[in-house]
Amino acid sequence: MAVNLKRRPFRIKDHNDYQLFAQKIIRRDDFHCRVPKCRTQMTTSVFSWQSALTVHHIKKRSLGGEDTFGNCITLCLDHHRMNENGKLKIGGDADRPIFDYRKSGRKD
Ligand SMILES: [Zn+2]
Repeated sequence: MAVNLKRRPFRIKDHNDYQLFAQKIIRRDDFHCRVPKCRTQMTTSVFSWQSALTVHHIKKRSLGGEDTFGNCITLCLDHHRMNENGKLKIGGDADRPIFDYRKSGRKD
């Protein structure tokens, strides 16, 4: 039986594994936040946890979302925060994420 690599969860045992996974996601997303028209990008070639970019799980891990390339996208810190505050809902998958601004949310 063929293994669908895209859907297979990335094996994450420790912080280094997670960092490697995050780097792969951010690199796939061409070092840019995936929110349309957001211009935030990584300005350094060196990955750092002070980076302006983070990895977002479309389906939260607490709800069973996995560390797969299909479930994770790159977001800037601002859009990640908006998502956490409920001002920006994100659905779909990494191929076709759906961004939905809530009325109470700000777009800045
Ligand atoms: Zn952004």
